[in-house]
Amino acid sequence: MKSYNTNKAIGSLVFILLIPFVIMCVYTYLYIDYSSKKEFKSTMSRFTTNASRANIETPLNEIKLMFRSLSANIDEKDITKYLKGEQTDLNTVIPAITDSTVFFSNVIISDSKDNYKIYPSVELKRFSPRSRPWYPLTATKDFISYSEPYSSILDDISGTSKLKKKSITASMNLFNKHSDFIGNIAFDLDLKSISSNINNKMPPYNGKFLITSAAGDVVLSENKVEILRKKVPLSWIERASNVEGEFYDSKEKVFVFYKTYMNPDWFAFTVVNESDYNDITSVAKQTFWIVTLSCLVLYMIIIFLAKLYMEQIISKLYMGINGIDPKKDKITISSIYADIRRNKEYLEQAVYDSTIDGLTKIFNRRKFEDDIHHLIKSEETFWLAIIDIDNFKVINDTYGHDTGDIVLQTVSKTGCQVVGNEHNLYRFGGEELCVIYAGEDYDYFYQMIDTWLQMVSIRKWREADLHVTFSAGIAKHTNDESAEQLLKKADARLYQAKKTGKNRIVGE
Ligand code: GH3
Ligand code: MG
Ligand code: MG
Repeated sequence: MKSYNTNKAIGSLVFILLIPFVIMCVYTYLYIDYSSKKEFKSTMSRFTTNASRANIETPLNEIKLMFRSLSANIDEKDITKYLKGEQTDLNTVIPAITDSTVFFSNVIISDSKDNYKIYPSVELKRFSPRSRPWYPLTATKDFISYSEPYSSILDDISGTSKLKKKSITASMNLFNKHSDFIGNIAFDLDLKSISSNINNKMPPYNGKFLITSAAGDVVLSENKVEILRKKVPLSWIERASNVEGEFYDSKEKVFVFYKTYMNPDWFAFTVVNESDYNDITSVAKQTFWIVTLSCLVLYMIIIFLAKLYMEQIISKLYMGINGIDPKKDKITISSIYADIRRNKEYLEQAVYDSTIDGLTKIFNRRKFEDDIHHLIKSEETFWLAIIDIDNFKVINDTYGHDTGDIVLQTVSKTGCQVVGNEHNLYRFGGEELCVIYAGEDYDYFYQMIDTWLQMVSIRKWREADLHVTFSAGIAKHTNDESAEQLLKKADARLYQAKKTGKNRIVGE
């Protein structure tokens, strides 16, 4: 039998109660992970949009306004006078624009014949604006051309830096009222000054905001050393295929948020290291683990207390029901289990005793009546044999009651051997036994009873002149026949067997 004890019961309870707790923990953990990622993405996308607006859109709009007003107010005469050093508004406008905004470092104004003037003034030999990489040979009216990063000739010649200075130039072709090309105005962008703005706002999650050209060169960055010197991976440019979006670079282990522009062909990136993201979001996860572990400890304490008090409550209930005095008897959950198990065994013994005959160890009359009624109810075909030991009274009188008992036991035991383990052998009363055969085959049943009779009749007993036989009556149960009617029929056949000389079977 399966053995139960207190610890097993409590263990099962703990396990069952733990299931919803575990489900809740897993759900909460996944939710924290999901919501921190969601929060991270929306914060960084918002930041990228705002930073791009402040650091690209605003300066470019101002540059655009400046170009437009210049192009609207300059004519051929102004350019010619300016290049010759004669008196014109441009002599005051150009220095004013260059010195008062942070956007420009140099201005080159050239006419349609490639005559030029640079402000601040630089002496150059064999310089031709048209042959420079930034010169927009085909640009139409009002179109601002932004060059790709190129090596600036200005610094090469002035020799202020040993490294070749790289630059980006914004320029616009100028046309007169008749749409004839009259020259060009070009501003070298002061990228370091424009980048100063980026310092003002630190990106969230320790991120880094920078702007690159279509070739990946850093154009604007809070780290001025990187400007036009460092490149971002080209794969970033390839992956930034929408107006704005984000991706994860598994090689660099960074999250990248981007916004793209058309003229100039620039890309704004906000880059967050995965380790920084993990460090920041780990606060929420750490809190989760602290709360979960605290709950588990609390849970264990509750289980411990429940174990302690549940035992007491059950013990008291049990003692109350069974009239046990707690002062005299020591009751524990284990002793209650032992008691219940003992009672179950008593019950099984009682059921056995109520169906088995004490002397012969075969089924008793009560069991016979139960079985026969059950068979009648189930409408199954069955046969009944009643067996009565011949001259049993004489056996008792001659050899004594104990020998009579042994004869009865021996006949029953032989019956069991013949009938088998099907337990359909009953002591009906006194020295009368019954066999129920739940089947159709009469010959088989008759043969079985006959074999039994032969075995009994040829048996040699301890008492030399003792000879035991029995007589039997067999009847088939027919439809709608009651148990009493069937018994009567079989009994009549038994009587016939007795009357016709005993030691025989009367059947169909
Ligand atoms: P018949 O051949 O006609 O059956 O004769 P019989 O002597 O067997 O007839 P009867 O039924 O009158 O006798 C049955 C006797 O069986 C009576 C009773 O004392 C005896 N008896 C009944 N139960 C027991 C028992 O448990 N042990 C012993 N030893 N004798 C029993
Ligand atoms: Mg009898
Ligand atoms: Mg008899």
